[in-house]
Amino acid sequence: MSELWVKRNNIYMRDPKRIDRMCEKLRKIWRECPDQRLGQLIENYIIPSGEMRGEATCWLFYKEDDETEKQMDKSLRELCQHHRVVRTHGDHYLCLDCGYREV
Ligand SMILES: [Zn+2]
Repeated sequence: MSELWVKRNNIYMRDPKRIDRMCEKLRKIWRECPDQRLGQLIENYIIPSGEMRGEATCWLFYKEDDETEKQMDKSLRELCQHHRVVRTHGDHYLCLDCGYREV
């Protein structure tokens, strides 16, 4: 079993510590080449297309960040288990974790 895995409640799972660590590395790499789209950056430096199946990765390389970010927001809203809602102004509410808004 590699260091990727940790045992929690008798179940092996991927170590959650990798998330902040990997995001920090992504941030550092992206700061070195800030004009690259996220998909382009991932294909160039994180998951080179040689390691995957060429054509299958094109969608990732050319995907614009606004679309990627919309998908990330959508996934975040779907994955958000318990909205941490704050009242912003009037009757407007916002989840601090996923950005979900409600009037
Ligand atoms: Zn939420």
